[in-house]
Amino acid sequence: MSVLNPAVDQTICAPLPVLGRDVVVPLANGGEVAYAALDYAASAPALQRVWDDVAGYAPYYGSVHRGAGYLSQLSTDLFEQSRATVAEFLGCRPGDQLVFTRSTTDSLNLLAAVLPPGTRVFVFETEHHAALLPWRGAEVTYLDAPRTPGEAVGTLERALADRTPYGPALVCVTGASNVTGELWPVRELAAAAHAHGARIVLDAAQLAPHRPVDIGELDVDYVAFSGHKLYAPFGAGVLAGRADWLRAAEPYLAGGGASKQVARRADGGLDVEWHTTAARHEAGSPNVIGAYAIASACRALTEAGFGPLVAREQALVCRVLSALARIPQVKVLSLFGERAERVGVVSFVVDGWDSSHFAAALSARYGIGVRDGLFCAHPLVRTLLGAEPDSAGECGASESEPGERSLSAVRVSFGVGT
Ligand code: PLP
Repeated sequence: MSVLNPAVDQTICAPLPVLGRDVVVPLANGGEVAYAALDYAASAPALQRVWDDVAGYAPYYGSVHRGAGYLSQLSTDLFEQSRATVAEFLGCRPGDQLVFTRSTTDSLNLLAAVLPPGTRVFVFETEHHAALLPWRGAEVTYLDAPRTPGEAVGTLERALADRTPYGPALVCVTGASNVTGELWPVRELAAAAHAHGARIVLDAAQLAPHRPVDIGELDVDYVAFSGHKLYAPFGAGVLAGRADWLRAAEPYLAGGGASKQVARRADGGLDVEWHTTAARHEAGSPNVIGAYAIASACRALTEAGFGPLVAREQALVCRVLSALARIPQVKVLSLFGERAERVGVVSFVVDGWDSSHFAAALSARYGIGVRDGLFCAHPLVRTLLGAEPDSAGECGASESEPGERSLSAVRVSFGVGT
């Protein structure tokens, strides 16, 4: 759907320019074509505006929260302003904390590390592995894949009501699936969690680039997302939400920046006083460029307005779905059925084709970059493909010999700049 790639639609123009639209790739027939990135769900291209902002700041960056020099002070101000901008973008409540992390995976691992002792975790088997796997120290209840949004709420309610003993609990749920693109009933799940005395964390990795995410309005306790899916470069992410668990727990990383005072004790040991702000979990020199880039992306999306962005994306989703519906060999993957609302993520299988070969052919023949595999959501893809629970499959792109069918699908995903 790049305007420069003749193999794809050119009639809907992009509202916010992104990088990489004029990258030329070689084709199998010896020709060349502009690359068409349809793999936004993995990593979206950075906005030109974000890149320009970062380039403008790069000559001025300096150490954060450490130096007395002008550039250190400037960087500290910009880092903290970035935090405030992202908190505003997420509609954080007074008293919420916003920690800059490396990614959504890092954010959810941070949350797993600060759970109060005895916290029970509830997570649907349909989650991305980043949301499915971090809860290693906790007792986890894996919930079966629901077939309607209403069933998701009912399943969660029953599981929470059944829990004994009735202690702290956390529900982890995605806002939009990285496999089907389908929206989950976040507000209803949050209400169910709270009605049963549980907290809820929203994995907004796929939702935040496509829809407004407002912590207060959705009434979730925590939100996690990644910069590289929100049109900023790699290396930075966010965990935002209730401060009490974050303040009470040991620092996620121990080191400079997280500690306020460190002194030798008379017995030879160390007394350490940790910060109670977000710095508690941000030890080491922070990724100031990454935080600044996320804030820039948040500003750009807010200024462009989600209304027009969503309307345009929905038009693209409809085009993709109706084009695929005209090909009898194609089966689109869906948990909630045809009428479910989805972001710009569509996965499918093609009868007679191995998904890895299909994806390779799209690249070699048309310069279109998609993803194939199980998308780091193995249980969900297995359920959608009707596979046996213990059948094999790799997290990354699948590999198989011609004629051999692997357990995998093809995913096209798009957004701003497509
Ligand atoms: N959650 C969802 C729904 C995702 O799609 C992804 C990445 O694809 C993640 C979490 C993990 O994001 P990251 O790799 O940036 O940590």
